[in-house]
Amino acid sequence: MGWKLNEQLKLLIELQEIDTSILSIAERIEALPAKLEKFKSPFKEANLLLQKAKTQLESLGKNKKDKESEAEEFQEKVNKLKAKSKDVKTNKEYEAFLKEIEGFEKGKYKIEDQVLSIMENLETFTKNIQKEEAKVKKTEEEFRQQEKEIEEEKTKLHAEMETYKSKRKEFVAGIDAELYEQYMNLLKWAGGLAVVPARNEVCLGCNTNIPPQQYNDIKKSDSIFNCYYCKRILYCKEQ
Ligand SMILES: [Zn+2]
Repeated sequence: MGWKLNEQLKLLIELQEIDTSILSIAERIEALPAKLEKFKSPFKEANLLLQKAKTQLESLGKNKKDKESEAEEFQEKVNKLKAKSKDVKTNKEYEAFLKEIEGFEKGKYKIEDQVLSIMENLETFTKNIQKEEAKVKKTEEEFRQQEKEIEEEKTKLHAEMETYKSKRKEFVAGIDAELYEQYMNLLKWAGGLAVVPARNEVCLGCNTNIPPQQYNDIKKSDSIFNCYYCKRILYCKEQ
């Protein structure tokens, strides 16, 4: 093989550094949606509570209207009876009328009490809605702010990634094709780590001992050596 190994190894080491950076940037980009989601859920939750409170207020308002028209009906009955009572001839008949009127009035008062209690509830619910609206506003602001920051971070990371990618192209151009293929295959199945240092006769990629003779050869670094166990390309940090 005609390439100058020392130089090739140096290029591979630097290529690995670039690829490690690219992988780490890709991971950070991938983690961004989850980061945003953490701020989106309180906003969504607050919105849901607000909608619920609004629905409750609406049904309470409807309840109040129903009760009010019920009270009106009673009042109409009372009015009609009162009008009729003018034509009554006997005391007995009149007493019966009064009793009936009293019954309807009682019913009306009872309903009016209910309306009052509904109105108190309405006040509490309205205050509650104001609180929920403030919460929605606050959580939305936080979410929008975070969304903006994350968008900026994404743009920044993509730009960084592009820089590394063009740097990568330069390095790849100098690496022997066969060696590059070996590197790429290793990168794929060895979890993004194809070139690893060896220290104290141990491969730092898989923590397996390296035979002393091979370790000495790696130290000289005049050839490409692979860990016999994990097959990663080794270089020595102790020279
Ligand atoms: Zn190894």
